[in-house]
Amino acid sequence: MTSRDLRIRRITVRNYRYTHPNLGYDYNGFNEVFQRGGTVQRTGHVLTIETESGITGEYVGGSAVGYVQVAMVAPYLISRSALERERIWNDLKRALRKTDRFGIGPIDNALWDIAGKVYDAPVAELLGGYRTRIPAYASTYHGDDNGGLDSPEAFADFAVVCREMGFPAFKMHGWGAGPISREVATVRALRDAVGPDMDLMLDPACEYNTFVDALRVGRACDEANFLWLEDPFKDGGQSAFAHRKLRELIRTPIMLGEHVRGMELHVDQAIAGGTDFIRPDSDYDGGITGVMKLAHAAEGLGLDCEIHAPGPAHRHCIAAIRNTNYYELGLVGPGIDGPSLHCPIFTDYSDDLDAIDAEGCVPVPTGAGLGVTINWDWLDANTTETVVLA
Ligand SMILES: [Mg+2]
Repeated sequence: MTSRDLRIRRITVRNYRYTHPNLGYDYNGFNEVFQRGGTVQRTGHVLTIETESGITGEYVGGSAVGYVQVAMVAPYLISRSALERERIWNDLKRALRKTDRFGIGPIDNALWDIAGKVYDAPVAELLGGYRTRIPAYASTYHGDDNGGLDSPEAFADFAVVCREMGFPAFKMHGWGAGPISREVATVRALRDAVGPDMDLMLDPACEYNTFVDALRVGRACDEANFLWLEDPFKDGGQSAFAHRKLRELIRTPIMLGEHVRGMELHVDQAIAGGTDFIRPDSDYDGGITGVMKLAHAAEGLGLDCEIHAPGPAHRHCIAAIRNTNYYELGLVGPGIDGPSLHCPIFTDYSDDLDAIDAEGCVPVPTGAGLGVTINWDWLDANTTETVVLA
């Protein structure tokens, strides 16, 4: 097959919507939390990039913000070779420099799906295989006041359930509002409940109002031997200065990076002493290409790269990275039934709580490309809009 056959001829996005049961929102309407009998409406996106050869790349993911940018650059992609990912990535990096560049990720991931199908290999193999099973941590919904994860004891009980399922690690997202003493008590309750061997992490997701609250919780994390404290307070995970100060005051490693974008800012944040890890996401940081660049940047700094959030693209990346520890499986919680982020749309892939094996590992898809099968019947029934972008 010649590269000419792989010129891009059409780009389409399908938007879909579905209802998730037993969920609601917490104090400000943003964090999804357990709410018995409640529902939340979720939206999703499927990007399709067709080539002249008939080989089509598909990616399930991305955000509404990102697809505004995909629409902006879609005409540029027409007639380009789908195998020129690096050129496309760099062109789009400049073209979208006045945005957060969320549009690059879905495009790049769909192009990797095409490459895998061209070479009849899973993306992980093209990236360079390192592992075929990935240890996962259970990553919880935020704390609630509705009978779900509504107390230190409830978090501790759920962590024990996860440990007994085989998870080697557990990460709590705390409460969006409320006394910091409850957050501290939960850190202590978790370690008391699971014993010394399970890795524990805390992600307040930028909810704490003050640096002192972050310090109070960080000192509890020290006592409880937590593996990391992530994005603790309302600088929004941005301030290298503040987190370097926090790192001087506590022993627990600090995880930033979910809220800075691209190679240069991630590296700057690490060199400035703001974080102990590099944290990429393919939807946020320019797709699989962007994630692998960040993994190798971390490798060059001697640091580990911990990828944010689940999904098939992230499993392929982790399978090809040495300097990484865990796959983030979530969000999960007791009593929250029904499909997780991407589940209903695939016939052969899940990020639900029971996606792990007895050792707490998730598999890496083995089919060509991203190696997952879209449930087209389900998608047809839930599509709200199909837009040909170019
Ligand atoms: Mg986070």
